[in-house]
Amino acid sequence: MTSIRTILLVDDDSRLRDLYGGVLRRAGYTVTDAENGAQAIACLRDSGFDLVLMDVNMPVMDGLDATRHIRKNAQTRATTVIALTSNAMPEEVAKGLDAGCDGYIVKPLDPEELLRELDAILVTE
Ligand SMILES: [Mg+2]
Repeated sequence: MTSIRTILLVDDDSRLRDLYGGVLRRAGYTVTDAENGAQAIACLRDSGFDLVLMDVNMPVMDGLDATRHIRKNAQTRATTVIALTSNAMPEEVAKGLDAGCDGYIVKPLDPEELLRELDAILVTE
């Protein structure tokens, strides 16, 4: 299992960043927030993260474009990216995987569910 300590949490909804960021920090992760894909890429340029939790629908740059960018860049290519999506339709999920996401978590979900889903995904990495 990959050892995850640092998480980049990307979502344009500040309430979700607070909610999910809070539970992840209490679980012992070091969490950095970004509010769109462009900010996420800037954060990744400054420092590496073990995991990116990437919202899909965001202004400025959406999560799929940001993930494609992460996969193209040699410095960030190996970073685990999990999409946080509010649309679990198979074609939406396929788009995320095509863009290079390693997995996805469907919103809305309560923070404890986020931890459980994350554990399940990371165990199978
Ligand atoms: Mg969003």
